Amino acid sequence: MFAKEKVDQIVDSYTDFSIATICSHSALQIFNGAKHYGIKTIGICTEASRELYESFPYAKPDEFIMVDDYSALPVDELLEKQAILIPHGSLVEYAGEQINSIALPIFGNRGSLLYERNRDKMFNWMKKSGLKCPKILKPKEINGPAIVKFPGAKGGKGYLVVHNPDEYYSKVGEEAKTMIQEFIVGIRAYVHYFHSFDGDAGYQTSYGRVEMMGIDRRMESNADEIARQLSVGANIPISFTVMGNENLVLRESLLPQYMEMARGVCNTSKDLFGGIHGPFCIETIITEDLDIYSFEISARIVAGTNLLESPYSFYTHGKDYTTGMRIAEELKEAFKKKKLKEIVY
Ligand code: AMP
Repeated sequence: MFAKEKVDQIVDSYTDFSIATICSHSALQIFNGAKHYGIKTIGICTEASRELYESFPYAKPDEFIMVDDYSALPVDELLEKQAILIPHGSLVEYAGEQINSIALPIFGNRGSLLYERNRDKMFNWMKKSGLKCPKILKPKEINGPAIVKFPGAKGGKGYLVVHNPDEYYSKVGEEAKTMIQEFIVGIRAYVHYFHSFDGDAGYQTSYGRVEMMGIDRRMESNADEIARQLSVGANIPISFTVMGNENLVLRESLLPQYMEMARGVCNTSKDLFGGIHGPFCIETIITEDLDIYSFEISARIVAGTNLLESPYSFYTHGKDYTTGMRIAEELKEAFKKKKLKEIVY
């Protein structure tokens, strides 16, 4: 892992800073947010994506660094431009293990991204935080619907639902390293938060405050269109590939629990790996008895925040306010107060 002290030295040498990310996932929102605060933006981009990122005047980066693919990030060029890298889902996926060693300041804590990439570590983190989680099953314990997740699978691609050990072994085999979870039936809610080192809204944590920014529900194919399939007599197995997101509000009486869950996650992350800074998401399913099960934490901005309007960020900031704007504001404040080191790694 690249040493935190070295990141601190880099940040100490910055006389100004720019915001850089890979042109994918939530990059339009991140660039738009930075522009709102007059911060210079750099898009790391492939030729195939450039036209799209040039086509939105209020969300296109000020400058492109062109790459053939995202497996090797242009570190020297980014350092020269005093860049802070904003991690999002595609960056975590494409940059992979590089995240550990990359000699660049990353907004937030790269330690949290390592927890996100390892399901066992993530479940440990969730349980220590007091979250109720689906049961993790061994193949022979499957007795009813269970969801099978393969290593590294992102966005739900390739997941299976099985109902008994025989079905598991016939579909998955003996060797595969999977995580099997009991399938929770309920309403899915993906809740977006922002942990701030010096914000004054939200709930107090042991090292700052955590704000609720919004809630989305993912549109997953073909799980979310099953009724249409049934109506035309199609018999296609369920799948969970994310296609997009829609806005959600929850009954207000559930919100205190969600704020306590976020506080637990923030406080535990401080103990486990030095804290979480900036955006994160707790992915949940609420059963008909109003039990909230958490099945994943995304330790960075999630694509559901691309929805611009959320009552929760409106109540926190008094205006329509995106997570992209929140990131830019936090970095700008920290830079002004010479506290960047507290929120990058
Ligand atoms: P994940 O990759 O963990 O975010 O899961 C992808 C999708 O699979 C989720 O958005 C849910 O729709 C579904 N899913 C994941 N875990 C569970 C579970 N334990 N019970 C029911 N559905 C789940």
